[in-house]
Amino acid sequence: MSTKNQALIFEISRPGRVGHSLPDLDIPEQDLSSLLPDEYVRAQEPELPEVSELQIMRHYTALSNRNHGVDSGFYPLGSCTMKYNPKINEDVARIDGLANVHPYQPVAQVQGSLELLHNLQTSLAEITGMDEVTLQPAAGAHGEWTGLMMIRAYHEARGDSKRTKVIVPDSAHGTNPASATVAGFQSVTVRTDEHGLVDLEHLREVVSDETAALMLTNPNTLGLFESYIVEMASIIHKAGGKLYYDGANSNAILGIARPGDMGFDVVHLNLHKTFTGPHGGGGPGSGPVGVKKDLIEFLPKPILVKTASGYDFDYNRPKSIGRVKPYYGNYGINVRAYTYIRTMGPEGLRQVSEFAVLNANYMMRRLAPHYDLPYTQHCQHEFVLSGKRQKKLGVRTLDIAKRLLDFGYHPPTIYFPLNVEECMMIEPTETESKETLDEFIDAMIQIAKEAEENPEIVQEAPHHTVIGRLDETLAARKPVLRYEKAE
Ligand SMILES: *Cc1c(COP(=O)(O)O)cnc(C)c1O
Repeated sequence: MSTKNQALIFEISRPGRVGHSLPDLDIPEQDLSSLLPDEYVRAQEPELPEVSELQIMRHYTALSNRNHGVDSGFYPLGSCTMKYNPKINEDVARIDGLANVHPYQPVAQVQGSLELLHNLQTSLAEITGMDEVTLQPAAGAHGEWTGLMMIRAYHEARGDSKRTKVIVPDSAHGTNPASATVAGFQSVTVRTDEHGLVDLEHLREVVSDETAALMLTNPNTLGLFESYIVEMASIIHKAGGKLYYDGANSNAILGIARPGDMGFDVVHLNLHKTFTGPHGGGGPGSGPVGVKKDLIEFLPKPILVKTASGYDFDYNRPKSIGRVKPYYGNYGINVRAYTYIRTMGPEGLRQVSEFAVLNANYMMRRLAPHYDLPYTQHCQHEFVLSGKRQKKLGVRTLDIAKRLLDFGYHPPTIYFPLNVEECMMIEPTETESKETLDEFIDAMIQIAKEAEENPEIVQEAPHHTVIGRLDETLAARKPVLRYEKAE
């Protein structure tokens, strides 16, 4: 990482310098402004940077080198599953016949692509224990909304329209209550008990004949398996509700446990997390949704089906909630996920989860003497620590996260889940070596020591990054998004 501050592209600009060479114009020059309505014509030319090709190369290469990605360093961002994305996924996504298909091509010309998508649907149905899968949703939150809209359609089709409430645990990902609200439900919170699991007594209190669904992440966002899941499923089903599984992060259960077998009716997966799609920077993602039999008729249409004469899209679905995405989902990311599933195979996928859980437990046990561990049982693919002890010394979890930048690490998720004070949520993933885990643990132990002996060094971190501590509140509330030339 370069510590030299980088000039803006506008600041290295020199009048008349160009980064291109074009042949001379050999046709009469046109005044385009005469072809446009006046209100679309600029009063003056925009001020654009003028630089050479080499300058622009160096400028953006230098900026890109400042990025932290999973290919450049450890990235234990809990719940986000920042695992390595195997490069064979990219090779396959670039195969001509896959990279250059067009969604408007007749189905007869794209049978191979449709077979790939159909195989992916079938694999995901098998992995989750569901009966049918749609690949349309473009992200996890989009999958949640799609799933809830199907649950709504299901209740409405039965004349059961007073089911207006969706129960969501207080440890849930923020998208869960948000999706419930966007889908027209009221979200009702169920508490977490002292063991970090859904409080069953409280669940019994909040469930009613107005319950449309319970949304659950299992293992939950504290990294703990909801061991009473079968009982919870029965409470919800007896009340006439449906169970929604937030499988954005399924890194602990592949080949080991299936939401369908736990009693869930709807599942979404994040192919950009668990199934090694590139992740972050705003997408594109893929959030397929799987359903049990009694919800199939509500799936978004068209549905990709296998017929006697080949693969085809079935639009004849009168009860469908309709289309939720142009075309058929984010095809490129689905190709990558399919590649991953086929290269790993069933045994490989099971190992993914075994190693993810092993790595998380190893790290949790080594860090437990140095930070507060709010839940002491074995964790699944991730775990939470609390910075309560350090807070008493004047060092907050935010400071610890900033100090980790000095060691070259992306910090863990912080202040989430909301029900743990000064929370740090760490997910090492299965793709990291023991050496990397140990180095990160050593950095965390050193920071805990610094908090005791020399708190300022943590409070004022980062010290070795290009830019020091930012005022994040100001940056979020009053963002300056435009370059303004210094006079
Ligand atoms: C990431 C995540 C989501 C949201 O997924 P997006 O693709 O970001 O919309 C939902 N739930 C959990 C548990 C997650 O980790």
